[in-house]
Amino acid sequence: MSQAVATQKEQPVANAIAVPEEVLNITILGAGAMGSLFGGLLAECGQNVTLLDINDAHLEAIRSQGLRLETDQGERYIRNLLACRPEQASERADLLLVFTKTLHTEAALQGVAHLLGEQTQVLSLQNGLGNAEALGRHVAAERVMVGMTTWPADLLGPGHVRSHGQGVVRLLCADGVERPAATQAAALLEAAGLRCAVDHEVWTAIWEKVAFNAALNSLCAVTGCTVGQLDGAPEGMRLVHGIVMEVVAVAQALGVPADLQRCLHSVVDAVAQHRTHKPSMLQDILAGRPTEIGSINGEVLARARRCGVAVPLTETLLGLLRLMETRARTESTRSAT
Ligand code: NAD
Repeated sequence: MSQAVATQKEQPVANAIAVPEEVLNITILGAGAMGSLFGGLLAECGQNVTLLDINDAHLEAIRSQGLRLETDQGERYIRNLLACRPEQASERADLLLVFTKTLHTEAALQGVAHLLGEQTQVLSLQNGLGNAEALGRHVAAERVMVGMTTWPADLLGPGHVRSHGQGVVRLLCADGVERPAATQAAALLEAAGLRCAVDHEVWTAIWEKVAFNAALNSLCAVTGCTVGQLDGAPEGMRLVHGIVMEVVAVAQALGVPADLQRCLHSVVDAVAQHRTHKPSMLQDILAGRPTEIGSINGEVLARARRCGVAVPLTETLLGLLRLMETRARTESTRSAT
């Protein structure tokens, strides 16, 4: 699912962290587009990587031919990694990187309970809110890290991932403390070429990306518009701006200093630059799959209610997407019987 658009200005991240000499067991939970990109690059720089997924055709392709990875550095096959279903893995993870869609996080984490040791650090770079809480139900709070990435990736077919352009990763322990595990994870990702830094403002970055996704993803999913088609009528951009303003208001009410102008600039820039892009939520709707609306608009609404901020547009889009998901589920059940 392409995420070709980004909320953060994409400057190279200055990083004074030393490249780790140690080889770690890095387990990728959810080795779709993003998990395969991150896992492939980590394996390429010498880490001991296991890709875990439930897509058997994808796993089989990786096992038989290697992971076919296309980036700006070229196309190659990465073979020094393991690819299997969660229940087939046995080696304890030093670092578990969670890259399922957010609606699958809970089931996926239940499936790797046997791989989580006392030392296992877990990191979510998924979109949306609620990821820290989801990980915190499975490991101690001080071993949970969260972050945000602007790297894009698409799964083109079994065993085949493409990521063109540049991105960054920002991460921190979810409770805001900078522990050695965060520094180590950032160093690993930086060494893999993923331009990663520990960032004390990570919650601001996460919320600003949520504002971006709440506006563009949900509007495109409901209307069927590409990102560029959202400015086809003045009402379209008024809706985009309105949703961004709602999400930023909730963030600020919770003490997260999300910047409204930066968010508005990001969405306007995306509408101008990525005119034909279909956000992942639209792609999911078109394919009849459930979306990540719950962890984006849904989590914003839950937090808005807690702090007494009105988010009528965000709530309306959530309701419309829920209806569309339900209709798709009902129709696919009917056609299967
Ligand atoms: P994806 O659908 O390509 O990959 C998710 C993978 O998780 C799939 O291969 C699926 O089979 C697997 N999975 C589902 N249930 C599982 C389970 N129980 N155990 C193991 N694996 C399981 O999704 P993606 O595009 O890689 O996105 C992953 C996350 O990263 C999402 O939160 C997304 O919003 C975020 N993100 C995506 C991009 C992008 O460009 N694709 C960019 C930034 C952030």
